[in-house]
Amino acid sequence: MPIQQSEALILRSFNVGEQDKIVVFFSRDKGVLRGVAKGARKFDNRFGSSLEPMSLVQIFYYEKERRELVTISNCDLVESFFEIQEDLKVNFTLSYFTELVEEFFPSGAKEDILFRLLLAVLKAIKNKGDLIFLTAYFETWVLKINGLLPNFAQCKKCHKNITDFAWLSPKKDGVYCHQCAIYKKEKISAKANSFLQWIKKNPPLHKRNLPFSSSEIGELRKILEEIIIFNLEREPKTLRYL
Ligand SMILES: [Zn+2]
Repeated sequence: MPIQQSEALILRSFNVGEQDKIVVFFSRDKGVLRGVAKGARKFDNRFGSSLEPMSLVQIFYYEKERRELVTISNCDLVESFFEIQEDLKVNFTLSYFTELVEEFFPSGAKEDILFRLLLAVLKAIKNKGDLIFLTAYFETWVLKINGLLPNFAQCKKCHKNITDFAWLSPKKDGVYCHQCAIYKKEKISAKANSFLQWIKKNPPLHKRNLPFSSSEIGELRKILEEIIIFNLEREPKTLRYL
């Protein structure tokens, strides 16, 4: 079997047997993969701290036919995001990101935009970026890459441009203006829409002075999470801790 190598972010790992670990990793070339790291629990093993969650690594592995798990032969640490996870809020937020990646991008496909997104957000968190904002940023892009981000700028029925506020459609796939809406539960302000447009055009910020207020970010996150829950048909397990 030829050895494969890829840049990857470690998503999570769990113990198996006496000495091994199963590692879920997000490879730049092939998306989410699961592999066994033999001997990873032994003292002084060859993996060191490279298998910690969110480590950016160069990973070497073999794929076996008809096997779901690859075999990880080596893993070199490129950049660690271990220290930022001492903060419990960061820790929970990154678990949420992991769940979104695993749920929305189950396996086997290259997702370069998502890979660059996750890495950029991790670096922004490391540089003390605003966690609530960066969560909204990540959620927006996860939905956009999946084609699930509705157009908040135009009414689905009369196609009028939304200038003040609109209502999210029951299927969470668009908005209705106040005249056309029958279901008036989730209100979206024009400000939330301009925030979305801003996210689509700008990299994640490292600084704390954001162009939007925390209540505006909170409003947008509520809407984004409604759309996520609708599409997953359940609430992400890790969301309740945020
Ligand atoms: Zn309308």
